[in-house]
Amino acid sequence: MSLIIVGSVAFDTIETPYGRREKIVGGSGTYCSLSASFFTQPEIVAVVGEDFPKETIEFFKNRRIDIRGLEIRPGKTFHWEARYGDDPNQRSTIKTELNVFQDFKPLLPPDYRQADIVFLANIDPDLQDDILAQVQKPKLVAMDTMNLWINTKPDSLLKVLEKVNIYFANDEEVKMLTKETNLIKAGNKILERGPSLVVIKKGEHGALVLGEDFVFGVLAYPCKEVVDPTGAGDSFAGGFLGYLDKVRAINDKNEIRKASVYGSVLASYVIEDFGIERFKSLTQQDVEDRFSDFKNLVSF
Ligand code: AMP
Repeated sequence: MSLIIVGSVAFDTIETPYGRREKIVGGSGTYCSLSASFFTQPEIVAVVGEDFPKETIEFFKNRRIDIRGLEIRPGKTFHWEARYGDDPNQRSTIKTELNVFQDFKPLLPPDYRQADIVFLANIDPDLQDDILAQVQKPKLVAMDTMNLWINTKPDSLLKVLEKVNIYFANDEEVKMLTKETNLIKAGNKILERGPSLVVIKKGEHGALVLGEDFVFGVLAYPCKEVVDPTGAGDSFAGGFLGYLDKVRAINDKNEIRKASVYGSVLASYVIEDFGIERFKSLTQQDVEDRFSDFKNLVSF
């Protein structure tokens, strides 16, 4: 099968109780593709400026990420700045500079249009819609978003939501979008809009996967030190979809349960260091070892 990932490839300036890092590599598409690369060869669609480091592009290639859909344009790379306090689930966005993403209108390479799985990672919903329209017959479409788009482009976002099978969101976003305080009611309201599955991420409390006749809860790995929570959500989605692509299963409930655990495994690793640093040393064996740890955590 094949998986395309549309999202931001970015510079992030991040402040957490563990320190501050200026303009390190981040972006929803980056985290998601790196996580998915442990299972499959994701095809990325994004744009960066000429200031984006060549070493990172080499790193993507070494991780078997197909970068034919990654455009390099004159101008500056997307830049996002955020600050986290002592609670890793709470963050404030200080700055969002779209830069080269402002007028990005990609034309997908011909074989990307045949993709089986499409992940519309967090990015402008109009761009998500535009790219989805170029994929011929995807078997599975998933999306993510964030508060900025819920606040500024709710209509565009709801239009995309109706076209996807899986909606990944964090608890706050689901409540914000549906104006419901009860998570289950909020999740059900999303299901009424079109998706057959909603994956509600709850930071250090794990995630809840809800379908019409399906519910699965996955823990978050009990991490003592959360150095930088950025990218946990995208890494979850990347692990989840990468695994489904690898096992060629999109409707098998048991595979969906395993995919959720792999999502949580990848998310738990990425937060151990700033930015994408932890991916540089992470091995397939580490991923499998933590998957087994997750099994032990819930068997009694
Ligand atoms: P997460 O922590 O999983 O929610 O994702 C964080 C990533 O999303 C960061 O690396 C940012 O570069 C990226 N990001 C932040 N705001 C936006 C936005 N408005 N559109 C696209 N990507 C964004």
